[in-house]
Amino acid sequence: MKFSQRIQAVEDSRTVRFTALIARLRREGREVIDFAVGEPHFETPPEIIAATRGALEAGETRYGPVGGLPELRERLSGLFEGYGPENILITNGSKQGLFTIFQTICDPGDEVILPSPCWVSFTEQIRLAGGTPVLVPTRDHQLDLDAIARAVTPNTIAILINSPNNPTGAVYPGRTLGEIVQLVRKHNLYLISDEAYRDFVYDDQPPVNLFDDPEIRDQLLVVRSFSKEYSMTGFRIGYVAASRPMIQALAKLQSHLTGNVCTFAQYGALAASVLDPEQIQARRKELARKRELAWGYASSLFPCVRPGGAFYLFPEVLKHCRKNETAEDFAGRLLDETGVAVVPGEAFGGPGHIRISYALPEDLLITGFERIADALGGKGGLV
Ligand code: GLU
Repeated sequence: MKFSQRIQAVEDSRTVRFTALIARLRREGREVIDFAVGEPHFETPPEIIAATRGALEAGETRYGPVGGLPELRERLSGLFEGYGPENILITNGSKQGLFTIFQTICDPGDEVILPSPCWVSFTEQIRLAGGTPVLVPTRDHQLDLDAIARAVTPNTIAILINSPNNPTGAVYPGRTLGEIVQLVRKHNLYLISDEAYRDFVYDDQPPVNLFDDPEIRDQLLVVRSFSKEYSMTGFRIGYVAASRPMIQALAKLQSHLTGNVCTFAQYGALAASVLDPEQIQARRKELARKRELAWGYASSLFPCVRPGGAFYLFPEVLKHCRKNETAEDFAGRLLDETGVAVVPGEAFGGPGHIRISYALPEDLLITGFERIADALGGKGGLV
């Protein structure tokens, strides 16, 4: 069977693979505590469900405009001073927004700088667009500005920043982001800001909005998601905010790729966009508490940087690995012996680590960590 070189050059998504694995194990009767999937456990707010159902009943079941529901684009553009609906493209999740961006800006040989570890799909999406991902290691999960500056070559076209970060939970301070903006301006690059976790920042850090710097706007592409903030992962709604010519170019591709995003789902997103911010604040508070709980457990077992946002921990597990064992082997053993699923760090270019998602009910969080602690203490045979 023939497959293109393009598809042979990439791996399937290892995070998505875990969702399927856990579903299969559960079907087989295994009890699994899911620390793997990056999906908040909160219910989708009823206002969103009602608006989606209302749209279905009102017959919003046909094709819609490629760029998205005009009311939704209008509302979202209000988050970006000076922008209008033409600066917003609604996409099938931020994942497709990013895919569309790489297809639109990359030519063969173009390099995109990615601070690493990083989300599993960035590298593969860049490769699928013919570009080259250039991984620049972070230090204690924070950006290494000198290393990023050294990684810029005449082939560099963009730097991608993801704060709060998946998989580490790191939040980058304004000063650091300011330096990145300077670098992007100096070399006339694009700055892609993946803000899927923007509402999950737990410490009193002043919020950093790259868009606030007017000097960078023509080079900036902001990618956001409804998935995590409103527990709408299955709706598949995200968006890109960028200059008008960029949005036009992205929409040109989208017109051939997906056409519009699911029409009635966009009414759900519209309802989400007017939800009482108190609801999000309450979720943030709950996740902040769980961050403390999970980090307390994890740091008693592994070296683990305290994350400032998202809902992930990224501990180093080497001291618990057997001779020649990788984090992937360790994660497999953990699943077999404790029923707790985590994602091995190799998926994110962070060997020797595992990713733990703590966005789940407290009783499961505690049971999962106690099982891991028991196993690492010898009872479960993991030592
Ligand atoms: N982004 C989430 C994760 O990292 C969901 C799966 C995916 O799309 O990668 O687990």
